[in-house]
Amino acid sequence: MDRLSSHKATKEVVQKHNFKFSKSLGQNFLIDDNVIDKILSGARVSEEDNIIEVGPGIGTLTREMGKTAKKVVAIEIDKSLIPILKETLEEFDNVEVINKDILKVDIQELVKEKLNGGPVKLIANLPYYITTPIVMKFLEEDIPVTDIVVMVQKEVADRMNALPGSKDYGALSIAVQYYCETEIVAKAPRHMFVPQPNVDSTVIGLHVREEKKYKVDNEEIFFKTVKASFGQRRKTLLNSLGGLGFLNKDEIREVLQEANIDEKRRGETLSIEEFANLANKVTEYQN
Ligand code: SAM
Repeated sequence: MDRLSSHKATKEVVQKHNFKFSKSLGQNFLIDDNVIDKILSGARVSEEDNIIEVGPGIGTLTREMGKTAKKVVAIEIDKSLIPILKETLEEFDNVEVINKDILKVDIQELVKEKLNGGPVKLIANLPYYITTPIVMKFLEEDIPVTDIVVMVQKEVADRMNALPGSKDYGALSIAVQYYCETEIVAKAPRHMFVPQPNVDSTVIGLHVREEKKYKVDNEEIFFKTVKASFGQRRKTLLNSLGGLGFLNKDEIREVLQEANIDEKRRGETLSIEEFANLANKVTEYQN
């Protein structure tokens, strides 16, 4: 058996096992060789890599990673896919499938137990309904992840990759870019999937920086400041920062002055550097 990434090969596997697609689990299987190759090269998959895949489906991407990587652990929630994966991944000793909900997996423990303590890469065609929670879980839970290369809904990729001042720039852009350099790896229009979804997709690469780029004194206050600033998009910072809940107008005015930020500006114009600076002043007020 070679690649599964043609419509014909996917159909054969699905029919043989009488598999029923579940819309609510985001089951749209990739049927494009080119995009698979771009995912592998975007993630620079090598024989030293320990990879976590979320949602292997019938194993299309898993097989291609298994051909090169040191080890692949693929976590699939749908138990009806497990016997299929057993067959499609049969020849790979370096691939392990776990039948679990990714949101309930202790990833740190998994990395320790099955992937030599890491470092790891997260490479996946993600189920759309939980894209952001999965990506944030990997970034926030102190997991030794170096690269995240994932297929997500186009609009989500645009938000993750957006620059200040653009219409897509918001809390998600900052949450991701606080930790990572971002890169658009490939476009995947809807016709590249079976069944065809009603959205287009993009593969985004999030390359985690080894050293922190921004000097943030208190991350909790930093993210609260970002959230408050985007909470009411059309409001000036002087008004929206009231959403923090612990600064009055005069204090907000002072904090903005100290951070050298005009009180009439809106959150969507601030760079991450400016947010970091602003949050550090807010933190000083809290102490
Ligand atoms: N990797 C395959 C491909 O590229 O063709 C399938 C990708 S499909 C978009 C998403 C996969 O994620 C499905 O196999 C689905 O069953 C699985 N999935 C959905 N929710 C999940 C969860 N909470 N944990 C683990 N896997 C999940």
